[in-house]
Amino acid sequence: MKRVLVVEDETSIRELIALNLRMAGYEVLEAPTAERGLELLSAQRCDAAVLDVMLPGMNGFSLCETIRRDDSAIGIIILSAKGLESDKIRGLSIGADDYMTKPFSVSELLARIEALCRRVARASGAPADAAPPETRLVSGSFVLDEKARILYKDGQPIDLTQVEFQIMELFFQNPGTALVREKILEGVWGENYYGDVKIVDVNIRRLRMKIEDEPSQPKHILTVWGYGYRWNG
Ligand code: CA
Repeated sequence: MKRVLVVEDETSIRELIALNLRMAGYEVLEAPTAERGLELLSAQRCDAAVLDVMLPGMNGFSLCETIRRDDSAIGIIILSAKGLESDKIRGLSIGADDYMTKPFSVSELLARIEALCRRVARASGAPADAAPPETRLVSGSFVLDEKARILYKDGQPIDLTQVEFQIMELFFQNPGTALVREKILEGVWGENYYGDVKIVDVNIRRLRMKIEDEPSQPKHILTVWGYGYRWNG
């Protein structure tokens, strides 16, 4: 059973999310504060977490950063009353996989959690997807170990979130090919994803910080203006 952590101080919203998740077959851990959420997470690992931003004590952004520091596999959705683009970008740049603005549709939230859990399952080598015979993809000084889900640059492992890893997988499978942002969105977030393509740009920016020598002068993840991105190993 997939386990989801819900951190939200407004009881009615937290219960609404938890109830719907339980009806959909998830195990749910509920926390009214970030501190309690961390406590629960240290006892039991979760497949996904839904984090409110405005919380008493530690806020959702700090919580997201703290969780991400220890766990690159967990799927994180930030849930916030703030609809500002800058908040959205901030949430994604500190390691969230997705962002939803309140008021939100519970069915949409469920769809997004389901998509996140599918990714986490695929990442942990669930038998549903047959493992490809070749699990190490090489491109220039990079090696992508699909079985261990690790990217190496010059032999050094680079810590990637699942979303970042999947983007790299797409690149490695399509070397030298310009990938339109919508294709990256579909390939990584799934066909039924409702979000916009900006989430691709944010993840690309984060990836560049991790793999480029000079993130502002990328040599590996190249921008194809008005279209998308191209991998150059
Ligand atoms: Ca709140």
